[in-house]
Amino acid sequence: MADRPAWATSDRRSTLPSNWEQLRADARMRNPAQVCHWGGLAGGEALDHKNGDPLDHRPENLDWIHDWRSVRAGIVERNCHAAKTRRQQPTAVRVEQHPARR
Ligand SMILES: [Zn+2]
Repeated sequence: MADRPAWATSDRRSTLPSNWEQLRADARMRNPAQVCHWGGLAGGEALDHKNGDPLDHRPENLDWIHDWRSVRAGIVERNCHAAKTRRQQPTAVRVEQHPARR
């Protein structure tokens, strides 16, 4: 496959540290089956920042998740990363609502 996927050239890529491959290797050591931290099934191939902060590369914040690549590969039917992102956004909105305004 000669074409690079869109994410490879996006800004998201540039937030990854120079030792990202080492961080992935370490994460594989901690979780060899790459069990998805969202859905609990094995075979997650994306290393996710669990707290949603793309600059927080602490080992406890990095774990595997299924994204569109896992869905395309037929490993899972569900894009866990997209589900997680959807869940995180409404949380931020809820914080904005003041209970006294209801
Ligand atoms: Zn999953």
